[in-house]
Amino acid sequence: MIPAAFDYESPRTLAEALELLATRADAKLLAGGHSLLPAMKLRLAQPATLIDLGRIAGLDVIRETGDRIAIGALSTHAAVAGSSLLQKASPLLLQTARHIGDTQVRNRGTIGGSLAQAHPSADYPAAVLALDAEIVARSRTGERVVKARDFFTGMFTTALAADEIITEVRVPKTAGARTVYRKFEHPASGYAVVGVAVVLQQSSGKIENVAVGITGVGQSAYRAVAVESALRGRSAESIAAAARHAAEGAEPMGDTFASPEYRKHMAVVLTRRALEEAAGTR
Ligand SMILES: Cc1cc2nc3c(=O)[nH]c(=O)nc-3n(C[C@H](O)[C@H](O)[C@H](O)COP(=O)(O)OP(=O)(O)OC[C@H]3O[C@@H](n4cnc5c(N)ncnc54)[C@H](O)[C@@H]3O)c2cc1C
Repeated sequence: MIPAAFDYESPRTLAEALELLATRADAKLLAGGHSLLPAMKLRLAQPATLIDLGRIAGLDVIRETGDRIAIGALSTHAAVAGSSLLQKASPLLLQTARHIGDTQVRNRGTIGGSLAQAHPSADYPAAVLALDAEIVARSRTGERVVKARDFFTGMFTTALAADEIITEVRVPKTAGARTVYRKFEHPASGYAVVGVAVVLQQSSGKIENVAVGITGVGQSAYRAVAVESALRGRSAESIAAAARHAAEGAEPMGDTFASPEYRKHMAVVLTRRALEEAAGTR
């Protein structure tokens, strides 16, 4: 439980952090430390240098930018869960953050760290996929915007390059739509055995727009596109039948707590419940 020796850097600016990341061998960024430090204590990670992002001003701001809300990468889960701006304009991330871990985890863990970690049972990935969020990554050579659907590339892997830092996550305002996050959590860790995020908009009794993000089932979170296409243009009565497609295309994981069949079943159940709640029929 004692990490290997490492150098510690505490840059005051993003430019300095990017320079360190690009030039130090085996360097790792440190945000809330709630994934990285346990891995280091188990010696699953042995970075030569830790670059602590915690003293860089401005990376924890949640702000309005046109028709989007930008959430700084260092925003803690607690800050997201308590944001009045998100509550008013785009509540899905806030609804999701409230389900993450316990108070200590929410007070230290950050949205940027969680997305970069890409844990297959993390909660945010389902929500950022359902929101078609944009993840902003900076390197010494500039900035690029990665769509959430292109960001998660597998278990614990993302489209981030080794020299990039996530600076913010941008989500659309969801006025006119209803959003729901439903989760069946692991009783010990709190991680999602299955988590389902829904954005749903109805007009004249028909489902006009719907997006469903699912985490915990496969190697990485995914959009349940078969559910979405079975619902578009239909009434809420189609929800139960559509939800049966929730695990289509996913390769459900199995472990001592939940078999692949169980995860598949829970994906269907939670998708139905989340959609019914969003449609106001539950
Ligand atoms: C007991 C416990 C229970 C938990 N329960 C849940 C849960 O229910 N649901 C859930 O989703 N999560 C859960 N977590 C994980 C928690 O949310 C972590 O905080 C999160 O996964 C990582 O965020 P962090 O800020 O702590 O990142 P860190 O641990 O500091 O970093 C994680 C990784 O991301 C990289 N990184 C960090 N910030 C950036 C950045 N801005 N740009 C690029 N790379 C970056 C780091 O280099 C590292 O590789 C739990 C953790 C613990 C310890």
